[in-house]
Amino acid sequence: MADKILMKTPLVEMDGDEMTRIIWKMIKDILLLPYIDLKTEYYDLGLEHRNETDDKVTVESAEATKKYGVAVKCATITPNAARMTEYDLKQMWKSPNGTIRAILDGTVFRAPIIVNGITPYIPTWTKPITIARHAYGDVYKNTEMQVEKGSKVELVCTKDGKETRQTVFEFTDTDGIVHGLHNKDNSIASFARCCFNYALDTKQDLWFATKDTISKQYDHRFKDIFAEIYENEYKAKFEEMGIEYFYTLIDDAVARVIRSEGGYIWACKNYDGDVMSDMVATAYGSLAMMTSVLVSPDGVYEYEAAHGTVQRHYYKHLKGEATSTNSVATLFAWTGALRKRGELDNTPDLVDFADKLEKATIQTIEEGVMTGDLYLLSTLENKKKVGTEEFLVEVNERLKKLL
Ligand code: NAP
Ligand code: MG
Repeated sequence: MADKILMKTPLVEMDGDEMTRIIWKMIKDILLLPYIDLKTEYYDLGLEHRNETDDKVTVESAEATKKYGVAVKCATITPNAARMTEYDLKQMWKSPNGTIRAILDGTVFRAPIIVNGITPYIPTWTKPITIARHAYGDVYKNTEMQVEKGSKVELVCTKDGKETRQTVFEFTDTDGIVHGLHNKDNSIASFARCCFNYALDTKQDLWFATKDTISKQYDHRFKDIFAEIYENEYKAKFEEMGIEYFYTLIDDAVARVIRSEGGYIWACKNYDGDVMSDMVATAYGSLAMMTSVLVSPDGVYEYEAAHGTVQRHYYKHLKGEATSTNSVATLFAWTGALRKRGELDNTPDLVDFADKLEKATIQTIEEGVMTGDLYLLSTLENKKKVGTEEFLVEVNERLKKLL
């Protein structure tokens, strides 16, 4: 066999939990280690180790990502009450994704992996729609309360001892509810730069939409910051590449998205992104067929799967039962990271390997070999359901031919 592909700089490897941790090892053993002289800086973000290290390992992995520039992350458990008992946790540790996102100040880009035989519910969507979700503020950092009839609610802003006041509402005839939202100019600017950079990186148009006609200060600020950064820093580069930045109202955007053929990035405010990414993922078929990458404004990349740790399958696996868990999103997290590492290090062999591994994966599914979740969706006539490991072995058969 030919020599293994060499890597210059290590990838930051963030291991995770449950079924995805099992898949993680299978991918490395079957599809990566035989071909690549894999260099990684390994961080175990499995819940047991997060608990042992008082979650310091998560922070360290994010710091390492800043240092090396590219990370690949396995899905991880976000603890809740049930996990406190299951893992005998010292504390209900925060979501690792949230911690990493806060440290990298990043934007999450999610795009579907399109294969023949899995038809989107919107038949015109022949190209992927990438959702870019702002990950800070708005309703996710709100202050809210219930108020009684007879209350007057005001916005009060204090600066250097001076007060500015505005009446929100006077509840003269009924009880009611209020909430206060905020966002930060520097976070909106980071979000904008991440989106413009990603558009250039992937040669796709960028769409952005808010409700600035109704929210004349708040949403309008988003629109203005995007417009200013575009004019001053990106317009020339966009024109040179022949791609477009396009702003419209959120309701107009939704109508255009449905009528479109895909092939662009749709930047969404935090809440819009939460809702729209679930809609887009469902319309294209499956969360297990989505890529997800966190990009920081200074060009640091963290690749992951969009789905969780697939707990139900893991418990079957522990009982020794056969599983048929889809590994495509985790596999594409690896190929995304390897490709980006190769691009940054100028190692074309690594880029080529990532391309071929993705091609082999898609070819496997298009030839009718797939896991149970896709078997239910696929319109192919000669389709076969395979187990978790068998799928990866089938991908490897095709990869060998492509290499
Ligand atoms: P999940 O892992 O997303 O799985 C929910 C269900 O979706 C599965 O039971 C399975 O349906 C289907 N599914 C998801 N991914 C699949 C795949 N790759 N192949 C086949 N089917 C797949 O959610 P969960 O099991 O409710 O959550 C488990 C843990 O994941 C939670 O502790 C949560 O905190 C964590 N989580 C982590 C991340 C992340 O790290 N990015 C994201 C979300 C959730 P069937 O059972 O019907 O086959
Ligand atoms: Mg959601």
